[in-house]
Amino acid sequence: MVEVKLLRYTPDGVSLVARGCRVSGIPEGLSDEEIVRMVVENDYTSAIEHIYFTFEIKGMSVAISRELLEHRIASHTARSTRYNIEKDFGYVVPPTIADDEELVEMFKEAMESARQHYVKIYERMLEKGYSKAEALEASRYVLPMATHTHYIWTINARSLINFLGLRLCKRAAPEIRELAQKIYDIVVKIYPEIFENVGCRGYTIGLCPENEARPKDCPYRNRIPTKREVKESWKG
Ligand SMILES: Cc1cc2nc3c(=O)[nH]c(=O)nc-3n(C[C@H](O)[C@H](O)[C@H](O)COP(=O)(O)OP(=O)(O)OC[C@H]3O[C@@H](n4cnc5c(N)ncnc54)[C@H](O)[C@@H]3O)c2cc1C
Repeated sequence: MVEVKLLRYTPDGVSLVARGCRVSGIPEGLSDEEIVRMVVENDYTSAIEHIYFTFEIKGMSVAISRELLEHRIASHTARSTRYNIEKDFGYVVPPTIADDEELVEMFKEAMESARQHYVKIYERMLEKGYSKAEALEASRYVLPMATHTHYIWTINARSLINFLGLRLCKRAAPEIRELAQKIYDIVVKIYPEIFENVGCRGYTIGLCPENEARPKDCPYRNRIPTKREVKESWKG
């Protein structure tokens, strides 16, 4: 199970963002909190880029770390498989099969086979006179995508809303959805002014850009229209 720990965040973010907005020019008489709620609701969100969060993420698969890395407006540091020996690697059992004993058994066999081959190749390379660095560098190619990685991830509040919008969506892979939910649960407690009305993109924007790709079990299916439905309604 993925573990998320908040290491650092920008303190006093509400007053910081409000200060920035007042420099820019904002109607008088609004409290700091009202200003922040307004910029988020109206999507003037460059102002909340001043707020940063740094998370430590453990127990995440390499497969999902690749999806996380697709979020370019963030800073990523991952455990190196080049400099660390991974013979004791932990791994993620995909949530989709977690309740199917037969499939879990098959999956674990595959992981143990990969582990044995990893160790065999590593040790044989050392015997043949390759350096430790060369042996680590080559043997890691047999590591499975399920291998646990360890990650430090820094992201600003605006980019985090974008991340949550994409990864809290029912279409996202279950493991990254679990990660997104854990991150959301942390940040909404710190800055409810920013995150209270944030969810998947459909929830945040009030219309779902997934259109026909929207999953059948989307909880907002009957409440939030798709982008296409809204545009169709303009016709005539
Ligand atoms: C359900 C799902 C399925 C996906 N399937 C695939 C897939 O099959 N293959 C695949 O490769 N990816 C896939 N992705 C990843 C997706 O395409 C994005 O790369 C990822 O979600 C990061 O989103 P982003 O670009 O908005 O985030 P970031 O990279 O953090 O960017 C944030 C925002 O900054 C702006 N931005 C960033 N870089 C640029 C740029 N170079 N030019 C202009 N504007 C920029 C954009 O407005 C962007 O939304 C999938 C994502 C989801 C949620």
